Amino acid sequence: MRNAEDVDFMTAAGDAKSGRTIGQNPRTILVADDRLFDEHRPRGYHPERPERLGAARRALFRAETAGIPTHRIETRDAALEQLYEAHDRGYVDALVAISGREARVDADTYVGVHSIEAARRAAGSASALVEHIIDSPEAPLGLALLRPPGHHATRDTGMGFCLFNNAAVAAYSALKKGLSRVAIIDWDVHHGNGTQDIFWNDGRVLYLSLHQFPFYPGTGAAEEVGEGEGKGATVNVPLSAGAGDAVYTSAFHEVVEPVLHDFAPELIIVSAGFDAHERDPLASMRVTAEGYACMARSISRAAASSAKSRIAVLLEGGYDLGALEDSLFETLSAFTTSPGTAAREPAFDEVTPAQRREISDARRIAHRAYRSV
Ligand SMILES: [Zn+2]
Repeated sequence: MRNAEDVDFMTAAGDAKSGRTIGQNPRTILVADDRLFDEHRPRGYHPERPERLGAARRALFRAETAGIPTHRIETRDAALEQLYEAHDRGYVDALVAISGREARVDADTYVGVHSIEAARRAAGSASALVEHIIDSPEAPLGLALLRPPGHHATRDTGMGFCLFNNAAVAAYSALKKGLSRVAIIDWDVHHGNGTQDIFWNDGRVLYLSLHQFPFYPGTGAAEEVGEGEGKGATVNVPLSAGAGDAVYTSAFHEVVEPVLHDFAPELIIVSAGFDAHERDPLASMRVTAEGYACMARSISRAAASSAKSRIAVLLEGGYDLGALEDSLFETLSAFTTSPGTAAREPAFDEVTPAQRREISDARRIAHRAYRSV
């Protein structure tokens, strides 16, 4: 954390790369980061690589340089009992048993010698961050720079570069702290099948995902709405390849904002992947860094109305280092300025009739499922 003189000086300087100066009294960001996350290392090239954290840290440094105050929290390992809440005991025990050894969970998902330690610390740090957010009313915005990511990890298996589901472990911590409604907004370009699976029957946790569809991992159709107590608390907004800022912003207006208004979460966790960016090598969306800022402003407004502005941003995917850095910087700038701050929004004429229909279908299906419970 910088001292006060540095902040004043840096505010005057602003962000050299974007030319951005953050407005008056930006919110403090609680930050969870740990060098152990760099030790989750692939053998040979893999897109989910330690350099991604370097890019994320550069974004955070730029935010600090532009005058956003930060405060580092102590990271910690997830206790086995916490992991057992989100995952089957057999799966957790099998991963813990291979700690210190190299392995593969599936063709995409590697385990290096420090990966299990890193995954356990990532889940524990997400949980610590959420607890800090709930306990500290002055600084209810947090960022966790986590590796490995988590949203593809289901109850009983890791996949898609993910070992433990960081967002799910964090949501359970929030419930344990006494909250009764937690929303997870997942804007990673891939559907977070793992998070959906874990909370499929649980009405306390809203899982809402916008993602390229059809695409890896194959799940995330609008008709997947949860079951039992959880019916209506899973909301999927599948979008065809090529969607950009206007489509995402429109989906936020049409689906995310009304759903968050109805659900009234007491905490919003953002599964923040930046692989819907137009430069990302793994996917085919056209979101820009400014598009992420629009989504962040929308979430900020929702959090201010029902969640005492509590927001936990957890890093998921994002594989172009420059896109990751710029998008995270713009996201942090948007989250730390007042939700009412006017900002440029993309022109809506970029949404085609077919894209508009995808969004309205998702809205209608989500509305029907929510009303039926
Ligand atoms: Zn992804």
